[in-house]
Amino acid sequence: MYIVHIASELAPVAKVGGLADVVHGLSKELAKEHQVEIILPKYDGLDPKHLKDLHIEQKELWITEGAAHYNNTVWSAQVDGLKTFFIEAHGPRTYFNRGKIYGCVDDIERFLYFCKAALEHLLKAGKKPDILHIHDWPTALIAPLYKERYSLLGLKAKAIVFTIHNLRHQEKCPPQLLTSLGLPGENYLTKDKMQDPFFPKLINILKGGIVYADGVTTVSPTYEKEIKTPEGGCGLHEVLLESQSKLKGILNGIDETLWNPEKDPHLIKQYCTHNIDNPKKLEAILQAKEENRKHLCFSLNMSQEKRPLVASVTRLVLQKGPDLILHGLLKTLEKGGQFILLGSVFDPAMEEAFEEVKKTLSQNKNISIRLENDESLAHLIFASADMFLIPSIFEPCGLTQLIALRYGAVPLARLTGGLADTVFDVDTSSKPLDQRNGFTFEFPDSQGVDWALGRALECWKKDQPKWHTIMQQGMRYDFSWKNSAAEYLKVYRSSARLM
Ligand code: ADP
Repeated sequence: MYIVHIASELAPVAKVGGLADVVHGLSKELAKEHQVEIILPKYDGLDPKHLKDLHIEQKELWITEGAAHYNNTVWSAQVDGLKTFFIEAHGPRTYFNRGKIYGCVDDIERFLYFCKAALEHLLKAGKKPDILHIHDWPTALIAPLYKERYSLLGLKAKAIVFTIHNLRHQEKCPPQLLTSLGLPGENYLTKDKMQDPFFPKLINILKGGIVYADGVTTVSPTYEKEIKTPEGGCGLHEVLLESQSKLKGILNGIDETLWNPEKDPHLIKQYCTHNIDNPKKLEAILQAKEENRKHLCFSLNMSQEKRPLVASVTRLVLQKGPDLILHGLLKTLEKGGQFILLGSVFDPAMEEAFEEVKKTLSQNKNISIRLENDESLAHLIFASADMFLIPSIFEPCGLTQLIALRYGAVPLARLTGGLADTVFDVDTSSKPLDQRNGFTFEFPDSQGVDWALGRALECWKKDQPKWHTIMQQGMRYDFSWKNSAAEYLKVYRSSARLM
């Protein structure tokens, strides 16, 4: 099968969050047996060391936007072995030279333009993909643009599959923006097309992806159920219910070459997590984790004394429950543990709040707060931590609990979305005892955090054999992309009616 992903993120060259990991991990798994290509904007921040054999594929690709015509250049490179095309926009607004991926006032125009340029490239290059796989609002417009315009111009794809990684980000725009790209915008302001459920004069871009794609997926079975309810549907639950025959929740995997404690170059001491039933193997894992922890604590200027280490690696946004992370951090200190928070901040108020906490606790050797994005540090934290706190308000899938489980850190997670599909409470889960792998709580409040954290710390302190069993049970899970990619292939085949 010939699959083309069109996306706004791809690890490791252009990453903000899990979307980048998913496009990378899924593509790598699919590429083992299929032809896979990826199309991305040519951001100015792409790290050249990850771009092998970068060269121009198409020097001129003209795009009409409103009354203007702009030239673009299409580049290609291998990103971790994946054939990736990059669209460089030469227009006066320098759409992809902003020093960041998102967060510009004209993000909608930037990504709508990218959608058109990606389709134009496929058309002009004469490509005939079986599947166009698009991701989240930045590339959702590909679905209507293909169905209503590019398929009529001669571009042939057998099916469009749209993955919703986060339903919250829908993006709305006046219909004129579609008109400027060649779709008569006013025609799409109807309930069955792209009209926003709350603002009837606006186009809802994400909705366009849902309505026009042949197959729609989201990133966990529980999130798929949640988004079909008024509480979880962010205004689109009716559209999703109407689309349910083509909607499927497929759990994300993790890329086991990138996230493999046995070969992870960021660790001080690597450790093997396969066949861990042998007591000698467990001993080796515990020793390696301890070496990593000591090095980490030393490098972060923390006490190296043995205490339970709780960690959180996250974007600090409301979805992730930052106030609950803060609560967990203080509670951990109160109960004699250590806490490391690696959080990327996007909002000045959030940054200020955490800077304040950092200042207040600056003398405390049992805590480290790093407000940045640091891939290497993240790896070392996963390998060193005993526990990972993930108190999300909502979580479509979540990758950090999967990585934590693989690295032998026990997740403390709120039961929502993909967390509910992957973390099973030691005391209350309906799973068999030997499949339970963490501590969970139902409501996103401080009592919930206290309950999970309290039980975990108690177990760590008083019953190390039980703690090791929980760790081992988590490490035994297979969250590689193999199973998920097989599910995506089924969706590709049914969407393209290739069954
Ligand atoms: P989301 O996509 O909502 O941010 P996920 O849990 O799906 O959350 O994926 C987060 C990914 O980003 C993980 O690979 C995690 O390790 C990484 N990550 C999050 N915050 C940071 C950070 N501050 N520094 C380094 N990596 C981070």
